[in-house]
Amino acid sequence: MAAAALPLFCGAVASRKTPLTQFSSSSVLFSSLSSGVAVRKRRSCRVSIGRFRAELAVFRNLDADDFRHPLDKQNTVLLRAIPGLNELGKALLGTVSEQIMLLENIGTSVLVSENQLAELHKLMVEAAAVLNIEPPDLYIRQSPVPNAYTLAVSGKKPFVVVHTSLVELLTRKELQAVLAHELGHLKCDHGVWLTFANLLTLGAYTIPGIGGFIAQNLEEQLFRWLRAAELTCDRAALLVAQNPKVVVSVLMKLAGGSPSLADQLNVDAFLDQARSYEKASSSPIGWYIRNAQTRQLSHPLPVLRAREIDEWSRSQEYHTLLQRATPMNSTVKA
Ligand SMILES: [Zn+2]
Repeated sequence: MAAAALPLFCGAVASRKTPLTQFSSSSVLFSSLSSGVAVRKRRSCRVSIGRFRAELAVFRNLDADDFRHPLDKQNTVLLRAIPGLNELGKALLGTVSEQIMLLENIGTSVLVSENQLAELHKLMVEAAAVLNIEPPDLYIRQSPVPNAYTLAVSGKKPFVVVHTSLVELLTRKELQAVLAHELGHLKCDHGVWLTFANLLTLGAYTIPGIGGFIAQNLEEQLFRWLRAAELTCDRAALLVAQNPKVVVSVLMKLAGGSPSLADQLNVDAFLDQARSYEKASSSPIGWYIRNAQTRQLSHPLPVLRAREIDEWSRSQEYHTLLQRATPMNSTVKA
């Protein structure tokens, strides 16, 4: 089945009722306080970048299954087993809304290239090289909501959209991790299922023959899958950042960052917070609350994503992957 337009709502914990106005051309501005650290282009491939990795490594033969989260694998199998889902998908794909999203995006955003926001272009090209994937187009869009998402329309080159407020919130290295997360969705062919999830969110209840109960069940299944897919793509972010603190810092900033607080945020304290959340929610009442909190979310809670990526960074699987990597002759300052 053809892939279609898909807003991934990455980087934000989107509720299941994420409004279609996500794609409005609102031009409300955030404070333009910058927390970004300029990218420094160097000729040498060995550059000291403080506590972050000194050299980007490229995974030349990387396959999606090399880093796919086990819950993603498991939920993909479950999703494929749902009767009628493909038919529903066909009914939803190719809708006018996809074209509107596509056209509006191109018309209201800045297309990044070698001649336009070249630093950001380089971040994307590097991240794509690390993950062994063709770089999609990258658009920067004016929005006060820190967010990034990927759209893949059948027969067209996929593209990633990053909101301006996210650029302001993150360092360049963190921004590259976000781009890598988005590339992860493309690398893993998440497109079709994400389209289902998002289009269901935006209007499944109006599709003839799809009752509310079925739609709700499907929606829950899809969101369960999507939360698992997010964990996979956080791994893609780590493969590019090659430092778990970069990815955790992104999640921390999405949970409660602001440009003016950027230099005061503490990644280790956020990880401690994640551990205490796990502990608090392990009691029966805690489990109930946590389940209720996450069931309707398209993305796992930031603290849980942080915990998950911290654990994977210590795993044998990750270190074995790192051993397969080879150096790339360029680097980005953290
Ligand atoms: Zn995502």
